[in-house]
Order: sequence, then C-alpha cells, then structure tokens
Amino acid sequence: MRWLTTGLLGTIGLIGVSTSVAAQNPSPLETIRALGLDSADVGGIRVRYVPSDHEHALQLAALCEQVVSYFKGEFGTSFAPQLAVLRPEHWFVPYAGGEGEPYGIPWGWIPELLIAVPASLDQGVLINGSDRMTDLRRVRFVMLHEFGHLASKQLLHPSSGQPYSSVRWFDELIATYFAYAFVRASDPDWAGTAQNEWQGVVDGFTPPIVSLDWSHLRDLSPVEFARTYAWYQNLLNLHAAALYEEHGLDLLRSLRDRLDWQNAASWTTEGLIPILDDIAPGFGAWVSALEGGEVTGHRPEL
Ligand SMILES: [Zn+2]
Repeated sequence: MRWLTTGLLGTIGLIGVSTSVAAQNPSPLETIRALGLDSADVGGIRVRYVPSDHEHALQLAALCEQVVSYFKGEFGTSFAPQLAVLRPEHWFVPYAGGEGEPYGIPWGWIPELLIAVPASLDQGVLINGSDRMTDLRRVRFVMLHEFGHLASKQLLHPSSGQPYSSVRWFDELIATYFAYAFVRASDPDWAGTAQNEWQGVVDGFTPPIVSLDWSHLRDLSPVEFARTYAWYQNLLNLHAAALYEEHGLDLLRSLRDRLDWQNAASWTTEGLIPILDDIAPGFGAWVSALEGGEVTGHRPEL
C-alpha cells in the first residue's frame, strides 16, 4: 500500500516521477541494519525484530516463506524478501513525503526486496481493536500485498527498468492479486473473511469522486485522503478477488507475457484498459461503470 496517508499527499502529484525509486542514503535496509535488532532466518527469509517480538516476527517470516514457495512453484522463479518487524519507536516510511506517516501500514521497498511490518498489535493504523485475530490477519494481508508489489517486479517484469508502472491503481490491484491468490489457495476461510471486510468498507462510504484517475486525491484534506484512498484500495481488492476467481494465476502470466513492461513508466489507464479487457473480458466494462459512478465492487461467491 503506497500513498495511503497524509504525508503521501505530496507524492500524489508526482505521477510518472515517483514511480522511479529515489536513491536514499542511508538506504532503508541500511537504516534497519543500524537499529541493531535481533535477526533470524526462516527458510530464505531474514527477519529483524526486537526480542519481545520474536514469536510474532518468526510467524510473519514463516508466512513470507510460504508465499515465496507458493509462487516459486507456480512461476518457477523465486526471490527472498527481508522482513523488518518494527516497533513504533523504530518506524519510518522510506517514500518521499513519508516522514509524516503514522505507524503501522506495512511497506515494501523493491530495490532491496525489503518489507517492513508493524510489530505492535496494540496500536497502528490497521489495528481497530475489535478482534485481535482480525487485526493480525489485516496486518498479515497487507504484508502479503507488499510482497505482491515485490513479486510484480520480480516475476512479471524483472528486466524492466522500473519498480512500478505509472498506473497506480493497476499496481495496487496486481499487488493484491498476488496476495489474494496465495491466501485463497492456502486458507479459503481467510479469503472469505477478508472479502467481507473489504465489502464492508466499500459499502460503508462512497467518495465524492469515483474515478481511477487519482489526481483528484491531492485536493482532499488529509483525513478525507486517507479514508478515500482506503476505500479505493478495498474496491480494488474486491475486484482482484473477483478476477482471481475467474482467471486464477493465468491472469498474472498473461500480464507478464503481454504487457509492454519496458515502457511501464509511461503507461496510461486508457492505453492499458483494452489490453486488460482482452485478457479478462469485462474489465473495460468494470472501469466504465466505475468512471460513471456505479460502484460495482462485489465479492464473488467462494
Ligand atoms: Zn500497495
């Protein structure tokens, strides 16, 4: 999940620019190494954490190892993300404008194959406190979504020159597609629970402007931005789930083989839709309905 909250308002206007990852000194991984945390290796996954989070961190790493193995089995290639399970006092967000980010939304850093996850289940943006297992699953799903951003790069366009495409909603959709595919295959009950939650968010609120052109988000207040962005992400999650139920992993393979990844930094929604509609008929109609204000995010039957 990129650009979720207030500090990201500044990056929203940088479409096409912020898709290239700015060099950082020190890099996010160097910053985490400098914290002097404990570390462990779970399969090929190195995870760093404070001692009191040992069990939680190893469980997250084990889940990460499972998702890596799942896609290695399906795509024949794999990569090894590193995990940082961070307490609030260690939290940072490496994106431009990330200084003002609140605690607790997992983020991924493609150049270093790094995923940061909140350690605390008592506080954080994804914690609503009603049910600890639901909170934990939400954190885990967003971690898997961040894995999906890394996997998009590693499995779909490893030789392209950029970590992301210029079409943000598409990147978010595909990141969730990876996450959902794994969850659906490994824990159908979780997939169903997650969909119910997404449906609840989508049904609970409709933004004043419904469009995949997210440039309007920059005009929203920080609170409205966060709420609206979350709504779009949940809508995309529902659409990813519906697409997966119909097309499975073949959709990812088609995207890998048919999209012009070398020029992904200059893609547009208009250019992308006909290709997506050809791969997954109905995609264009979904977008048209959405642009017309008709919200058609509905969970598929499992
Ligand atoms: Zn994302």
